[in-house]
Amino acid sequence: MSKRISLALVGIGKIARDQHIPSIAGGEDFELAAAVSRHGKIDGVENFEDFDAFLKARPDVQAVSLCTPPEVRFDMARKAIEARRDVLLEKPPATTLGEAEALAAMASAAGVTLFATWHSRFALGVEPARQWLAGKAIRSVSIVWKEDVRRWHPGQAWIWEAGGFGVFDPGINALSILTAIVPGAIVVHQAALSFPSNRQQPIAASLSMASAAGSPISVELDWRQEGPQTWDITVETDGGELRLSKGGAELYIDGALASSGPDREYPGIYDRFAALVRARQGDADFQPLRLVADAFLRGSRQDVDAFHD
Ligand code: NAP
Repeated sequence: MSKRISLALVGIGKIARDQHIPSIAGGEDFELAAAVSRHGKIDGVENFEDFDAFLKARPDVQAVSLCTPPEVRFDMARKAIEARRDVLLEKPPATTLGEAEALAAMASAAGVTLFATWHSRFALGVEPARQWLAGKAIRSVSIVWKEDVRRWHPGQAWIWEAGGFGVFDPGINALSILTAIVPGAIVVHQAALSFPSNRQQPIAASLSMASAAGSPISVELDWRQEGPQTWDITVETDGGELRLSKGGAELYIDGALASSGPDREYPGIYDRFAALVRARQGDADFQPLRLVADAFLRGSRQDVDAFHD
């Protein structure tokens, strides 16, 4: 068995605790060696409040997983690459496409691994969906991604600030699946963005896009859905209808369940990160971020009711 890769987890908040810590502990590729967070701590490892202090004190830690909000990720990733560490980026990989592309260039020049993760691409139905769609003519795609922001992002002020992505924080997960299963370029034709009067980022978005072949792609994102949550992608083709439900966990072909099983999104991410680090390769696809950037460029603004947590 290969030696474990020593790793530091950075930004100990909801996703670090819910997914990264258990996935690292449950796998055999990484050894959690340190945590870096201003307030969050992990028992049993060395904890740092400052990223520079960590880099200086622990040159033995080969890899870092950056689980902070995107706003502060660029500076951390840049410093980690300069210190020749391998870097895993939570989604979205950066606040802007310019930052993301700069990081990819730096990592490539430094010869370190940069892995821009899209956890939804590791959902169980996504790869079989890609395979089923290959070679079929796509007639249309419909994405409906509606959830309750109070349930999934309680008290997260950063998500509403400039650079926080608003409803595109979950919406980019749908776009990461879309760009994994539909081949070729995708263009944004129209975007209607709904901004609460007291917030800097949209609470809902309605996009009209098209595939390279001209097939229409509609996207409805909404953070105001209480009760049952909807994370569905439906693709009409010349060979039948494909539907990914529950964020990609379940795949239906012509209404019949074709693939489902236990969630392995984050264990899948760490399997891939270990393979990339050992092969000295990177994986940085920014297509989902480009679509979000284009939606903001195309976006018309609509003011809606103020949002209070
Ligand atoms: P979170 O609960 O707010 O945790 C992020 C942590 O980063 C904070 O607890 C904070 O810890 C640290 N941090 C460093 N600089 C910060 C700053 N300027 N503002 C706020 N926090 C800062 O957020 P999260 O839900 O874990 O999300 C983090 C990233 O994971 C986001 O990019 C998100 O899109 C992604 N993600 C989240 C989920 C989810 O379900 N929540 C799912 C998949 C991916 P200290 O105060 O200790 O420094």
